[in-house]
Amino acid sequence: MTIKIKKQAAETGLRRKVEEMSGVDLSLCYQCKKCTCGCPVAKLSQSPPSEIVRRLQLGAGNELLENDHIWLCLSCETCYSRCPMQINVASVIDALRTLSLARKTSLPRGNSPLFNRTFLKAVETYGRSYDLLAIMQYKLGGGNLTQDVEKFPTMLKKGKMAILPPSGADKKTVKQIFKKTQQHRVSGK
Ligand code: SF4
Ligand code: SF4
Repeated sequence: MTIKIKKQAAETGLRRKVEEMSGVDLSLCYQCKKCTCGCPVAKLSQSPPSEIVRRLQLGAGNELLENDHIWLCLSCETCYSRCPMQINVASVIDALRTLSLARKTSLPRGNSPLFNRTFLKAVETYGRSYDLLAIMQYKLGGGNLTQDVEKFPTMLKKGKMAILPPSGADKKTVKQIFKKTQQHRVSGK
């Protein structure tokens, strides 16, 4: 693995920002690569998780925000559970994703941001995931409401999709979590 770091980009303090946002001390990583060995999307991406950590250690700048791994990552936290130093790599990637959107440095593959928005909007509204609404808004936002519509009856029949919204969630607490997250985002903390 050859890692090239742009000198100018290395001055942007990306590592410090990511450490602040994720609460991770990146200096703990000693490149054992256990995270990468367990990552289900490592082979599909430009840089597996251990390499992302290494790039940050070496002072990578905004070019790292254009890495496709940050949009391929499933947030499954396998990397975190395998790391002998308990480095929450998923949280590091989450921070990179947030910074990528904030700095508008890269266009993610597909409609990941739209999917994130529609899924989170449903959780914010109902306190839980409401797949039907999220999917409809996702398809509508992508300009293709009828895409995959033929699968809907089978999913209903097999109980994979509910028509009615979920009930029984603690909506008040969930709304407070969203509000607090928004405040953190605005204050940059
Ligand atoms: S498993 Fe942990 S220590 Fe090993 S390379 Fe990944 S982040 Fe670094
Ligand atoms: S959280 Fe992301 S980086 Fe970590 S193992 Fe899962 S897909 Fe890979």
